[in-house]
Amino acid sequence: MKTDIEISQSTKLEKINLIAKKLGLSEKDIENYGDYKAKINLPIKKQKDGKLILVTSINPTAAGEGKTTLTIGLGDAFNQINKNCAIALREPSLGPVMGIKGGATGGGYAQVAPMEDINLFFTGDFPAITEAHDTLSALIDNHIHHGNQLNIDPRQVEWKRVVDINDRELRHAIVGLGGRTSGVPREDGFDITVASEIMAVLCLSNDLKDLKNKLGKILIAYTYDKEPITVNDLGVTGALALLLKDAIKPNLVQTLEHTPAFIHGGPFANIAHGCNSILATKAAIHSADYAITEAGFGADLGGEKFLDITAPKIGKNPDAIVIVATIRALKLNGGVNKNDLDNENVEALLNGADNLGRHIKNMKQYGKPVVVAINKFTSDTINEMKALDQYIKDQGVKAINTDVWAKGGKGAIDLANELVAACDEQHDFKPLYNKNDDILTKINKVVKNIYGGSNVELSSKAQSQLKAIKKRGWDKMPVCIAKTQYSFTDNAKLLGAPNNFIIHVRELQPRLGAGFIVALTGKVLTMPGLPTHPAALDMDIDNDGKIKGLF
Ligand code: ADP
Ligand code: MG
Repeated sequence: MKTDIEISQSTKLEKINLIAKKLGLSEKDIENYGDYKAKINLPIKKQKDGKLILVTSINPTAAGEGKTTLTIGLGDAFNQINKNCAIALREPSLGPVMGIKGGATGGGYAQVAPMEDINLFFTGDFPAITEAHDTLSALIDNHIHHGNQLNIDPRQVEWKRVVDINDRELRHAIVGLGGRTSGVPREDGFDITVASEIMAVLCLSNDLKDLKNKLGKILIAYTYDKEPITVNDLGVTGALALLLKDAIKPNLVQTLEHTPAFIHGGPFANIAHGCNSILATKAAIHSADYAITEAGFGADLGGEKFLDITAPKIGKNPDAIVIVATIRALKLNGGVNKNDLDNENVEALLNGADNLGRHIKNMKQYGKPVVVAINKFTSDTINEMKALDQYIKDQGVKAINTDVWAKGGKGAIDLANELVAACDEQHDFKPLYNKNDDILTKINKVVKNIYGGSNVELSSKAQSQLKAIKKRGWDKMPVCIAKTQYSFTDNAKLLGAPNNFIIHVRELQPRLGAGFIVALTGKVLTMPGLPTHPAALDMDIDNDGKIKGLF
């Protein structure tokens, strides 16, 4: 079996202008970044109002469950059945690329290309977001250093710094050491770029005007009198928008079968809102009959956030929802050790299937058609496949076997046909919460109706933050819950479908620019660490530029 990069590099790509042309985009609608990448000029040309399909999944194993791979293969399957289709995905973060996952551009015969570019610096969006974020940090500290006219309390600067790599050493830092000429010492810390509010703002903006409006509202600090200070107060909204002038434009690439793919923005779904930019999804909806987008991690995180935060901003709800499940991950959820996932174990599979069952029930609540796609691994056995198929039928939804990793688009023809039919049905969307519900009500609805928990407990810090949020009238925004991706609970070790648990909210952070309140639960970290054997240890580039180890 060839590696992903070998498959990718042995495929002849089409010139990006040709891919754009398939979408009705001419040379003046795009800006070329070499032969195989382009940015889409704004405003997005509105030619169509295509159907929207959301791809989400069960609670994943550490390696991922194949949502990206399936989204790519499914796009190719649509094109194989002669349905005009474009996909929309997030850009990979260097954190997981160098850490646990390797690349995030699909796998096998379902990949987007050029994968080595997309997985590294691509068209420079993440570096631009990182620089914009850290420019703001520098401007805040510079303001304090030069007289602090805004009366910012250095102990209440809410704006941390970011870097796009897992670096646990930077979680907590003291900055400004070195005497009078080196700034004002204060406690600080770093988040990973994909948790930056600027990432969220960029992904939720419709155009430059909207971007500036959102950037200006970002809360950066409080004064000694506990009054909020925003980017507008500091007077640097224009500079930040300027740094993002290209990053805000969606990127266009292609799959190995030449299906158009918009790849843009990349907030993580556990610590941020988890969806590609609304501009990328809109670009797909407005230029193709079918747009397929992936939301990060399980349906309890990316799925819920797509439906409750992102879709209202796009102004369109999905016409159908696909839940990706793998027999491996269900066995893990059923108690099998991660090193034994290749061995047949029908009993553990059926134990773990309750995790899928809860995700099915959750997604059905929104009123739209739900289909389960089983992403086939070579280790799956006939007995396991039969048992899972029956379990899913018993939940009242269709189970469709897919094999895009081994077969490309051919491996998802049945799923594509099923989704074409599902998208033609008329169903009303039922939101999980009312936008006028207060924050605590919203958190409770997600905890009870999505996670399956019984209650929410706020730390004393979160309680006083909640009071301040109410007092300032910020409590009508959606909630973005930061939680471990492995469990419905806030404890990464409780797999399956636990009942009667409490979700512990340790902090509530107003993200006034992005327009939501982040609720940090359990021990979730906004700066991950690298594993014992990071993917970076297996990477190389030879003297001729040949790359190894990006999977
Ligand atoms: P997710 O988007 O759910 O995080 P990915 O699509 O990125 O998952 O897949 C995670 C990893 O698993 C990738 O390296 C991918 O190549 C691999 N993978 C996905 N599906 C299969 C499959 N059916 N067989 C083997 N490997 C797969
Ligand atoms: Mg993915």
